[in-house]
Amino acid sequence: MKIIEKVDGSYDAVIVGSGFGSTFFLHQFLKYAPADARILVIERGRKHSHAEQLDMGTQSSIDQATTYDRIGDPGKTWNFTVAFGGGSNCWWANSYRQHPSDFTLKSTYGVGRDWPVRYEDLEAYYIEVEDLMQISGPVEDAPWLRKGPYPLPPHQLPLPDRMMMERQPGFHFPVSTARPSIDTATRPKCCTNGVCHLCPIDSKFTIQNSFMTPYEDPRVEVLLEAEVRSLDVTGRTAQKAVFRRGGASQTVAGDLFVLGANGVFNPIILMRSGLDHPQLGRNLHEQYALFGEVHLDGIDHFQGSTVVNGLNYSHYDGPFRKDEASVLIETWNLGRLRSDHGKWRQVIPFLMKIEDLPQEKNRVEPGESDESLPKVIFEGYSENTLKTAACAQEIVEKIFSPLPVEGVVMRSVPGRTSSHLHGTTVMGTNPKDSLIDADQIHHTVRNLVVVGGGGFPTGSQSNPTLTISAMAMKAADKLSKPA
Ligand SMILES: Cc1cc2nc3c(=O)[nH]c(=O)nc-3n(C[C@H](O)[C@H](O)[C@H](O)COP(=O)(O)OP(=O)(O)OC[C@H]3O[C@@H](n4cnc5c(N)ncnc54)[C@H](O)[C@@H]3O)c2cc1C
Ligand code: SF4
Repeated sequence: MKIIEKVDGSYDAVIVGSGFGSTFFLHQFLKYAPADARILVIERGRKHSHAEQLDMGTQSSIDQATTYDRIGDPGKTWNFTVAFGGGSNCWWANSYRQHPSDFTLKSTYGVGRDWPVRYEDLEAYYIEVEDLMQISGPVEDAPWLRKGPYPLPPHQLPLPDRMMMERQPGFHFPVSTARPSIDTATRPKCCTNGVCHLCPIDSKFTIQNSFMTPYEDPRVEVLLEAEVRSLDVTGRTAQKAVFRRGGASQTVAGDLFVLGANGVFNPIILMRSGLDHPQLGRNLHEQYALFGEVHLDGIDHFQGSTVVNGLNYSHYDGPFRKDEASVLIETWNLGRLRSDHGKWRQVIPFLMKIEDLPQEKNRVEPGESDESLPKVIFEGYSENTLKTAACAQEIVEKIFSPLPVEGVVMRSVPGRTSSHLHGTTVMGTNPKDSLIDADQIHHTVRNLVVVGGGGFPTGSQSNPTLTISAMAMKAADKLSKPA
């Protein structure tokens, strides 16, 4: 990887950030870029090797909580990593596709917004991302239409998950994940100890352990520890990126600009660039997360070969989404054991992820002065989300009714974050109510692409990263692939 200390001249493309959105864009863009193209990646954080991360006990020397001010609901936090490789360092590698209905929430159920793309538009990209990340997943029983098996075999399922699959066919599935079920060329198989935000054996997919090829390309230069603050825009064209490095403000010129700084910082960079829009920075949302345990009667759990084993979709889709939220249940191979004598393994720890609908009041804003931190303001979850959360116990009892269940225990406090950032640079067909188009190109500034979950009009309860990566590849194809 060519790490530079100083930018030199102008570039064909300037890419901000080195997380999933930026890296999958870069990968695809390089396929068709000319041999003499010059591409610059500007990354705010440092590059910490896996060994260094283990020594530090964290993924980055920058504490993400110090990069913005949290305002509103005191119980709500947000989570991401500021370092080379972005969220790939800290993610848990659950790699789910969105369902076709997640793209058409408004036209199907009258709530949220429709996406300007459909499941069919992304299918080929999903397959390519799954191959690149070496996803382990089911051979036949995927919750979505997939042409052919996943690159790696599925993980071993615990007994209760196998029983659920038999008794609820079409609703309970083995997980699809970038935690490998067998050794790959670059990573050992997952050993199920469940501290995936800093995987001790470097098993889950990260950009550093398995996807450095885009950065090793001789056309690519990487500038680390440089924070992009804004873009110089003249008329309908972005001309330069303005960044700070070592306390000094500098600029770099380019023909194409790609913002991949995540759903908090992308909108702030656009605001500082004077690209105001009524929807910019608004609609910040992520899933409402509830943990709990299903107490079983006479059946042991924890025979799985990875940390999250099963996915239950029985309360995921249907006309109820008009006035209730969709739910995805993950069954976990770790968590609280039971204290009842002789029954300590007769429990399924689970995570219930409840869809939240975008609301304008939840937003990011720049600080008062150029030196102040951006503000992340969260005023509350949508009505449908809270309605569903209030019935959580009942829903879980119904879902697990095919098993002999003694009871369901819900934790009273929701998770503080699902670690996802959606909605702040919304994608759509109409420039009046959206920032970017179906290829994530800014409606007005046509040499500016904004990748990442901020573009999601609605955030489904399927984790977003597979979709972020697929969308980024689609954007790169639009801009570089010969017609
Ligand atoms: C603990 C945790 C667990 C997760 N688990 C999962 C999971 O199991 N499945 C899943 O699908 N998703 C998961 N996620 C979410 C996943 O990490 C994100 O969806 C994904 O990283 C978003 O990709 P991105 O490219 O938009 O942003 P990021 O990956 O956050 O990348 C943004 C990049 O931009 C850089 N940057 C920021 N500001 C600037 C600036 N001003 N100038 C230059 N560079 C900048 C950052 O350092 C970073 O490299 C998890 C997240 C966390 C925190
Ligand atoms: S379960 Fe353990 S080995 Fe598997 S990815 Fe997570 S931390 Fe790594």
